[in-house]
Amino acid sequence: MNPVLLITGASRGIGAATAMLAAQNGWAVAVNYASNAQAANQVVTRIRDTGGKAFAVQADVGDEAQIMRMFAEVDDKLGRISGLVNSAGVVDITAKVDAQSWERWERMMRINILGSLACAREAVRRMSTLHGGTGGSIVNLSSAATRLGGAGQYVDYATAKGAIDAFTIGLAKEVAAEGIRVNAVRPGLIDTDIHASGGLPNRARDLAHLIPMQRAGTAEEVAQAIVWLLSDASSYTTMSLMDISGGR
Ligand code: NAP
Repeated sequence: MNPVLLITGASRGIGAATAMLAAQNGWAVAVNYASNAQAANQVVTRIRDTGGKAFAVQADVGDEAQIMRMFAEVDDKLGRISGLVNSAGVVDITAKVDAQSWERWERMMRINILGSLACAREAVRRMSTLHGGTGGSIVNLSSAATRLGGAGQYVDYATAKGAIDAFTIGLAKEVAAEGIRVNAVRPGLIDTDIHASGGLPNRARDLAHLIPMQRAGTAEEVAQAIVWLLSDASSYTTMSLMDISGGR
């Protein structure tokens, strides 16, 4: 039996790269997406073409009812999960705090914070030995922005990811004796679509000179760390906030 992994935001970017690599490592993968069904189906097809097991599941992680439906669908199609990657995340158009709106902040916090909290809660209900589970591993996508602050571009995003760091620390301690490890990765500038959604499609390459390694990272390089944190190879690692940022 393949262990079951749910990855939110797995249709593109870091989530998609993680889905591919995890499937190669024997995970049956639920590929969540918000609206890009075509991209999600491409990830599923690529996994199946290489002999892996995957299916696509739509849900906006900014909506609790959709999260509950997603977990029920994963239970039904693949069985009880033992891995969760909270990769779904958004930025907004770059703006200083004095130009940001309440509506922007609500969307930012709902998707980036509440979505990760609710998905982790549902995962714990399935993985915890106190709930009849056999344990598991949760990996949250934080960001180097928690250290850098996002000034002039997206302080709100950095704020949301700061909450993810605190959540990772607290939840890791809370469920460590229930067989569940909780870690976060904090990528730096990674070359994905996310920068275009903030209005700066070339951001990762344009800022490469600020990175000690002098280049942006790839989604695959982040996926390597995530898949290690999901695996038994990291069996004594919990509560870690792993920087994957080329030294930045
Ligand atoms: P990306 O390329 O923009 O992909 C975003 C993914 O999240 C897509 O699969 C998208 O689905 C999904 N998504 C967006 N909103 C969603 C929602 N409300 N519900 C469910 N899924 C949703 O992003 P990425 O660069 O891979 O980023 C992945 C994670 O890493 C994020 O949490 C991000 O904050 C974090 N991160 C990224 C970087 C970077 O430089 N790229 C750096 C640090 C941290 P659709 O395809 O359906 O739109």
